Amino acid sequence: MGEFELIRHYFFPIAEAGHTSAVVLGPGDDCAIQQIEPGRDLVFSVDALVEGVHFPPHYDPEKLGWRCLAVAASDLAAMGADPVCFTLALTLPDADPDWLHGFARGLASAAKHFGLALAGGDTTRGPLTLSLQVHGTVPRGQAIRRSGARAGDYICVSGTLGGAGAALDYLGSDNPGADEQALLVRYHYPEARLDLGVALRGYASAAVDISDGLVADLGHILAASGVAASIDATRLPVSAALKRLAGEDAVNHAMNAGDDYELCITISPQAWESLPEDIRGRLTIIGEVKSGEGLAITHNGQSQALAAGGYDHFRT
Ligand SMILES: [Mg+2]
Repeated sequence: MGEFELIRHYFFPIAEAGHTSAVVLGPGDDCAIQQIEPGRDLVFSVDALVEGVHFPPHYDPEKLGWRCLAVAASDLAAMGADPVCFTLALTLPDADPDWLHGFARGLASAAKHFGLALAGGDTTRGPLTLSLQVHGTVPRGQAIRRSGARAGDYICVSGTLGGAGAALDYLGSDNPGADEQALLVRYHYPEARLDLGVALRGYASAAVDISDGLVADLGHILAASGVAASIDATRLPVSAALKRLAGEDAVNHAMNAGDDYELCITISPQAWESLPEDIRGRLTIIGEVKSGEGLAITHNGQSQALAAGGYDHFRT
């Protein structure tokens, strides 16, 4: 199968299934066309995932199909954007139909789940790399930036933390138990918190998605906003499965492990009080924004030295 037939066969059906009126022209021309409603801003981001760097070598193609789109969509969630469409540049060592079939299946279910239409793409030969550009929109001026945190704001996170990162220890295990399975699902099938991001528009003062670990990603908000923060380690939400598997170490995973794709937000106490009950129920207050700089961590009232620090792509 040539390149064109390959794309057609595996990817056109995904574009057709996700058809939305906002994508005026989908795959097949030199460019796709997206219509932006008056009074809205286009919010977009690109993510590159390289085999052996961002996912393990010989990773299951169906899980990769889901994961690559979830990871990209998570950046839209962090901005409070309504998802619209995405493009995919696929660099493949060879055109293995079994691999493509699995990948397309995972990508199709993620596209449907996250409400993102495939608007175009490109394929090349080379080491396995996926580049996805995701597009969303927000009412003009309402995107949630990293720079809006103010002293006195609460710091909150969604869901539970540390599970996906802890799952790395079990990726190769032949017969994982129920708790290991629960963590592996968090790693293989991350959820982009898109609906939560949208619900937080107009309430959250700043937001980031947790891709590299809480300490690292909260650090981005603090740097962009020019503020400091204190977090209470005992308040970090951790799943029962992670608690059972990691014991005391669960808190370190929650603090530093990446790949959870939960949201970390800041919000003023007044805005917190006015948040709808069901949205508050999805968030845990873990600390407070302070003036100054740096991140202080307390554990049972004792201040604690910062453990290991977040993942740094460029650390040597
Ligand atoms: Mg991000």
